[in-house]
Amino acid sequence: MTEKYNVIIVGAGAAGLMCAIEAGKRGRKVLLVDHAKKIGEKIRISGGGRCNFTNINTHSSKFISNNPKFVISALSQYTQNDFINLIKKHNIRFHEKKLGQLFCDESAQQIVDMLLLECKMANVTLKKEIIITDIDKQTNKYFIAVGSDKYSCDSLIIATGGLSVPKIGASKFGYDIGKKFNLNITETLPALVPLTFSQKILAMCKELSGLSLKTVVSYNKIFFEEGMLFTHRGLSGPSILQISSYWKLGDNIKINLSPKQDIFKLLENEKNSNPKQDINTIISEILPKRLAYMICKENEVSGNISELSNRLLIKLSNSINTWVINPTGSEGYRTAEVTLGGVDTNEISSKTMMSIKNPGLFFIGEVVDVTGHLGGYNFQWAWSSGYVAGQYA
Ligand SMILES: Cc1cc2nc3c(=O)[nH]c(=O)nc-3n(C[C@H](O)[C@H](O)[C@H](O)COP(=O)(O)OP(=O)(O)OC[C@H]3O[C@@H](n4cnc5c(N)ncnc54)[C@H](O)[C@@H]3O)c2cc1C
Repeated sequence: MTEKYNVIIVGAGAAGLMCAIEAGKRGRKVLLVDHAKKIGEKIRISGGGRCNFTNINTHSSKFISNNPKFVISALSQYTQNDFINLIKKHNIRFHEKKLGQLFCDESAQQIVDMLLLECKMANVTLKKEIIITDIDKQTNKYFIAVGSDKYSCDSLIIATGGLSVPKIGASKFGYDIGKKFNLNITETLPALVPLTFSQKILAMCKELSGLSLKTVVSYNKIFFEEGMLFTHRGLSGPSILQISSYWKLGDNIKINLSPKQDIFKLLENEKNSNPKQDINTIISEILPKRLAYMICKENEVSGNISELSNRLLIKLSNSINTWVINPTGSEGYRTAEVTLGGVDTNEISSKTMMSIKNPGLFFIGEVVDVTGHLGGYNFQWAWSSGYVAGQYA
């Protein structure tokens, strides 16, 4: 016997839950399935347990995709304000942490509970621990097999997310389904991820582990002014995570460790006005002490500033204002927040999220080649793309 539905959604993450709610509200008979035991794990662990659920500055410029205009339609059909209104309707208290990033005051679990309650109100059938063994299309219907059980639908929604954090359910399922239905998949890479380095820089990172400071990290013409953190594995913190989404293996990144000051100008002034000052003391007033000492040591400078040549001061200043380093890689999908690339946006209608080649087949959320900057943009993409598919499925 085949169980019949109007809409089947594979993946009960942020995008899948939103899509199920919206399709259910339209009176569609909806089945939402997930292979995980616990629903909404990624939401629950997000934002340090408080879920950075959207950003008030959401705009297409905050997303990376082969087609940067692709996101515009979905983001305007369901905006950050629409999601904020949903949160308010459920009396979930929230605050802006910084840079327009909205977090729950209490717990990310409130967002999961809210979405599950909305699913219930929209009569969505939710099945957990479902292992799909086959997906097929015959005439206008899609069929999924779960062992000997069969389900059919008019609209099949793939919302299985990206490859990040496999231990909580990430899989390549969505990309495989895309390929099965002849869709192009753009190269996938870990993004919003800490960067790793070869011996010399790594030893420095280990020694400075735990130290954080405000930096400007740049790659080509792209730059981010946010915090950076030294760890025992390399460099992390928002500015590094952001640049990791753009950086290409083999290339350098530039770090300004003191973005507010032109260090050479400052040292020139000090040399004239205070020639007996110790260079370590001067740099320690600009940077955290441990970092200052390490930079002076690396540049082999010590003693009174008056004794240091301008050539040496320029070298020292550059290592603070323009520290050029070559990452050897990233920590990979184990710690990446998101996956770059995915189902090619040329294959999907930006208005409906439906496959152009396969009417009735939809792709939403992170499985699509759309990656947001750090700061709530990835969830907003999940809500917006999920909402849109929910209107047309
Ligand atoms: C640690 C961490 C923190 C994050 N914090 C934030 C944040 O604060 N703000 C923000 O905007 N973004 C954040 N993100 C990114 C955000 O979580 C994702 O972009 C978002 O969850 C993507 O939604 P999605 O529905 O497309 O995929 P997911 O939320 O990943 O959901 C996919 C679902 O599909 C299921 N699935 C996978 N394969 C199968 C299969 N074969 N069969 C059945 N089900 C399957 C999975 O179990 C999962 O439930 C964070 C990510 C991580 C890893």
